[in-house]
Amino acid sequence: MRITRITVWQLTLPLKKPYRLSGGRLLFEELDSTFVRIDTDQGVSGWGEGCPWGVTYLPAFGKGIRAGLAELAPLLIGRDPRRLEVIERLLDTALPGHGYVKSALDMACWDILGKACGLPLCDLLGGRTEGPVVLHSSIPSGTPDEMVGFVREARAAGYRFHSAKVGGAEADLDIARIEALVADRQAGETLTFDANRAWLPAEAIQVMNAVAGPAWFEQPCETYAQCLQVRRATRHPVILDECILTFDDLLRAQADGACEGLGLKLNRVGGLTKARRLRDLAMAAGIRMNIEDSGGSVLSASAAVQLAAATPAPHRRATWLCHDMLTLDVAPGQGARNDGGVTQAPDQPGIGVEPGLEVLGEPVAVYGG
Ligand code: MG
Repeated sequence: MRITRITVWQLTLPLKKPYRLSGGRLLFEELDSTFVRIDTDQGVSGWGEGCPWGVTYLPAFGKGIRAGLAELAPLLIGRDPRRLEVIERLLDTALPGHGYVKSALDMACWDILGKACGLPLCDLLGGRTEGPVVLHSSIPSGTPDEMVGFVREARAAGYRFHSAKVGGAEADLDIARIEALVADRQAGETLTFDANRAWLPAEAIQVMNAVAGPAWFEQPCETYAQCLQVRRATRHPVILDECILTFDDLLRAQADGACEGLGLKLNRVGGLTKARRLRDLAMAAGIRMNIEDSGGSVLSASAAVQLAAATPAPHRRATWLCHDMLTLDVAPGQGARNDGGVTQAPDQPGIGVEPGLEVLGEPVAVYGG
């Protein structure tokens, strides 16, 4: 099997409502997503998507993906897409780093492998586990009352696992937000407070040690070293997210005892191939994971759910469906959907989502014949 053509689309994905995180520091109203379809000489095609969460969240942006694809896509013409680690090495040699550019290509190659094997990706990534994949809500920053209201809306949609965005200029306001949400917590619900790097260590330690919980805290500070300093000064479990980009980063975190949780986002770490490797290390290390993507449609979310469904439940926390927050649906009725706070990996071979060409519109680039 050989890759004959790679087609690229750009699509703006509007959010249902403006979204603030890091205490309002980062505001988002729409996402810039890039879709790729890889065609082969055997009539099998695979889909991939790359969608950073805006331009301010990570060192990644939509235009960067499309510029990177212009470098990388031509190199894949004539290659066998089923040889995933051969492809990975080729891409890493041609363009070191820039994992967020490669994720969509890697995802599309996995989709082709699944279709060629006649299996959903979960059965190639470890095997479908019993039971559903638990989802978490994403609660934007606001006043304590606003945030309690957002959680109640999410609860009405079935969510029992909430990721609330905190991290403001005032420690007292964050303490008030957290205490309000802990007081409103229902039996069986899990709360994560995600600062998205907003705190300096002093603020993080002050806030985290002031609240009783039960609660997990995610990416309290900008750097790994700052997060480690905080972890050593608090009793609450910590999730690392933005500061874990590579296998080496996670090795160091495991050796340092820096975290009990990992935000494993496909686009940030460079695709399913690298995410699977991190997943395996996290499982061996006893680090629980939120397996998801950094943003995007039902396509990228379903790819992440395929990996989550192939990961034994005790090693998982929850998965986020970004597309639950969008007004545009690229594949109505398809893929992993919120079903009362849980979801399932699609049964179809590959990822299980075929975006509608009428939604994607005209391609922005075509590589190969
Ligand atoms: Mg996070």
